[in-house]
Amino acid sequence: MNTFEVTILGSGSALPTLKKRPTSQLVQYSNKYLLIDCGEGTQVQLRKAKVSYIKISHIFISHLHGDHYFGLVGLISSMHLLGRVADLYLYAPAELKEIINLQLRASNTQLRFNLVFTELASKETELIYENKDLEVHTIPLKHKILTNGFLIKETPRPRKIKAEKLKFYEVPHYKIDGIKFGEDFVTSEGETVPNEKFTFPPEKARSYAFCSDTAYREKIIPIIKGATMLYHETTFLERDSALAKKTFHSTAKQAGSIAKQSEVGKLLIGHFSARYTENDNTQFIAEVKQEFQNVEIAEELQTFEVG
Ligand SMILES: [Zn+2]
Ligand SMILES: [Zn+2]
Repeated sequence: MNTFEVTILGSGSALPTLKKRPTSQLVQYSNKYLLIDCGEGTQVQLRKAKVSYIKISHIFISHLHGDHYFGLVGLISSMHLLGRVADLYLYAPAELKEIINLQLRASNTQLRFNLVFTELASKETELIYENKDLEVHTIPLKHKILTNGFLIKETPRPRKIKAEKLKFYEVPHYKIDGIKFGEDFVTSEGETVPNEKFTFPPEKARSYAFCSDTAYREKIIPIIKGATMLYHETTFLERDSALAKKTFHSTAKQAGSIAKQSEVGKLLIGHFSARYTENDNTQFIAEVKQEFQNVEIAEELQTFEVG
């Protein structure tokens, strides 16, 4: 099975503290490295996680509040200094392109690599990237400005072949790929043999859903339903729920409720307001657990396996 894991680089909220950096996460799938959000300090965190900047091929930016992208121009600049030539794919709201271009122009920098920019503007979920193993879909969120989460999921897994049955029915080689993806087989006598005769069910396609920042939003449930792992922001505790509502953020209990209704396997929480201290961590967990049990804090530099 391919490696599929998430390393938390930053899980703080708007203001950096001595303990927490703003949002950034690295998703590794096999030998592919995807970065989600790029708050200040992401470069140093990547160094601590011992990940080469050059390996990152795709960057997804949820929204243009500074705590989610103020590290990006610095990272792009370092990639340039390190001699990157491979295309870098960037998915973000349109204004980010202008911001990057202005900064590069002001420093008279001509990048050695192409920045391939995909503008995210839709209020509906859309497929924005796919390769043979993975798909990335947006998760439109509810925040003060246009914001997307991202659902990274494996493409449907092939069914597992029962070799002895293929032999018994003399299935020609060129038919096997179709059978792996559920096709029935018609014998030379015209008899249809159902797919289940040849195959075992496939392994479940694993998926990771990233949702930051957002007010409580039930509309995301069908998009993230059954995800293997969900990261959902929990900026506030229940005692500050009025503030959560006002600032379009979520409480721990609300994130737990979304995880429960979406029937995800595991929930990671973070983006706690800087008003709380580490002593409040147990309260965050306790409030989530009123709704959903399998929860962990997205601690920085910790790696979580999706599966
Ligand atoms: Zn934020
Ligand atoms: Zn925000």
